[in-house]
Amino acid sequence: MDVINRAYLGDGVYAEQYGGDGVWLKANDLANPTDKIFLEPSVIKALFRFSEEGKKPRFDETFCSQCGQGFGPGNHGFSHCDDHEGQEPVDDVA
Ligand SMILES: [Zn+2]
Repeated sequence: MDVINRAYLGDGVYAEQYGGDGVWLKANDLANPTDKIFLEPSVIKALFRFSEEGKKPRFDETFCSQCGQGFGPGNHGFSHCDDHEGQEPVDDVA
């Protein structure tokens, strides 16, 4: 089959499409890859979702244990006020 699309993605990873759906990923060398994997469209979508989920903050609301102020979404709260120095608390915390 003929390649309809080819690109170097960076970090030693090449992508190729041969028509139809899905993408081949080839590692380190296009002609003689050290590894290759075929990504079905459903896997590409799942990978994208997985990547997006990783960007979401862990908690919808974060707080300071010392003063009780809320700081909105984040991956951690604060134990002491010194830890949130310079950060503005969120006013309308439920
Ligand atoms: Zn505080």
